[in-house]
Amino acid sequence: MITLKSYLRGEWVEGRGELATLFNPTTGEPIAKAGTGGIDLKAALEHARAEGGPALRAMTFAERGAVLKAMSKAIHEAREELIEASILNGGTTRSDAKFDIDGASGTLAYYASVGKQLGDKKTIVEEPEQLGRGARFFGAHVWVPLRGVAVHVNAFNFPAWGLAEKAAVALLAGVPVISKPATATALLTVRVMEKIVATGAVPRGALQLVAGSTQDLLEQLGPQDALAFTGSGDTGTKLRGLGNVLARSTRVNVEADSLNAAVLAPDADDETYAMFLRDVSKEMTQKSGQKCTATRRIFVPRDAIDRVQSDLAERLADVKVGDPALAEVTMGPLATAQQRDDYRAGVAKLEASGARVVFGSATEPDVIGADAQKGYFVGPVLLRADAPATANAVHEHEVFGPCATLMPYEDANEVVELVARGGGGLVASVYGDDRELLSTLILGLAPHHGRVLVGSKKVADQAIPPGLVLPSCVHGGPGRAGGGEELGGERGLRFYMQRCAVQGDRALLDKILG
Ligand code: NAP
Repeated sequence: MITLKSYLRGEWVEGRGELATLFNPTTGEPIAKAGTGGIDLKAALEHARAEGGPALRAMTFAERGAVLKAMSKAIHEAREELIEASILNGGTTRSDAKFDIDGASGTLAYYASVGKQLGDKKTIVEEPEQLGRGARFFGAHVWVPLRGVAVHVNAFNFPAWGLAEKAAVALLAGVPVISKPATATALLTVRVMEKIVATGAVPRGALQLVAGSTQDLLEQLGPQDALAFTGSGDTGTKLRGLGNVLARSTRVNVEADSLNAAVLAPDADDETYAMFLRDVSKEMTQKSGQKCTATRRIFVPRDAIDRVQSDLAERLADVKVGDPALAEVTMGPLATAQQRDDYRAGVAKLEASGARVVFGSATEPDVIGADAQKGYFVGPVLLRADAPATANAVHEHEVFGPCATLMPYEDANEVVELVARGGGGLVASVYGDDRELLSTLILGLAPHHGRVLVGSKKVADQAIPPGLVLPSCVHGGPGRAGGGEELGGERGLRFYMQRCAVQGDRALLDKILG
């Protein structure tokens, strides 16, 4: 069996001692080991500070963008090989693998173009303002890269995109990265990193990879470092509460759980309704429901609930669960045995809270081309809660798999309140064609979300589904979703930069800041 290596201080290194085992979720067979025992991660941090940081800061945005372009190209060129790794270690279908891998190369390419637009500069200067009586004394807010290291801790569900979307932003800002993927699916991340390293385009110390535990790495972070975490709310809370992080005000960004909602308005036109059905069924089953942005709660007008239930059930009945390498299979297994067990327990928890299963089974899916007892297979499940106000777990417990709960509502104000019971989310989607009602929904939902997708007949043929995170729009959300914000074009760079108000003689500021 292979042992995954970390890429640290310009070398591929293997951990010693007790190693974690990675499995093929389709067969349950072990495929690799990984760990960081005996590796000096403090030295990796020092290497990034001493070499990666200065090298990046010496480059212009355009030059850093060129590095991202090379990374994107390398991933794209290795697409087929990476898809194989994703199927093997993630249990993804080809289509789900592409979602992750093309998302990685696409996000890097997008940030390469942001770098090109920012051009020859190394800092970002906001519009200066006159501060004194005369036209001499001015103030300008200037953004400069932090002098430390960006440590990225990622979730298991996007092994390629997770590395790329965070690294693209930090590297463009001029901050070196140490990236730590979730161990269970790190095989794909290591393969991606191999392709990136082979380009020779990334300056020494600018990008390192930890395959396995971070050991005491996070305890070394200080005031010029940044920690960006994606994963469960529990781990996020633990990491942001680290003593050194609190005492030294290390920047922390948390992307966590979310009970994303889809809301169908009563007036939805046929095209809008078709869009709603397409999006909800896709969001429930794409990547076997293992997306932080997947729809978990579906709100529809009370008099439409039976029709929606039957239409969704018809679509879900087309889902073919099985060996993701087979062309006819549309949904693979969950990524780990733990995820499968959590999914089953989660559906039971929703049932205990007042929801009933109206389609599918969490425990006994029909499986094509694989052994249902050995792989981590589950079926898509649609639940229904006719009294949403009292079905507490539906609004509080994220079941990380192909399941969602259908619920009725009476009016716009009620549905806004019900959606808000999720405690803060990444994305909400609303489908309707009445502008006044949409305005109540959008403005009512916006304070609770990082993003709202509005589906209407005017955009039905071109809008993206709500689960797709675009690099040009912010990703994150308040409350339960972690309170963080990533991406969003140039906005994302700010997390890795310090804004300093520089006050003085305008001519001098112009000369120094440009
Ligand atoms: P997790 O168990 O919290 O793990 C996330 C990452 O944290 C992994 O890399 C894990 O490493 C690491 N980790 C765990 N404990 C740690 C510690 N004490 N110190 C340092 N690192 C630690 O979450 P997961 O099961 O991978 O991901 C599923 C969750 O992520 C879901 O709730 C989902 O909603 C959320 N998610 C959110 C987003 C978003 O953008 N908001 C995106 C994707 C997923 P090991 O694997 O080595 O334990």
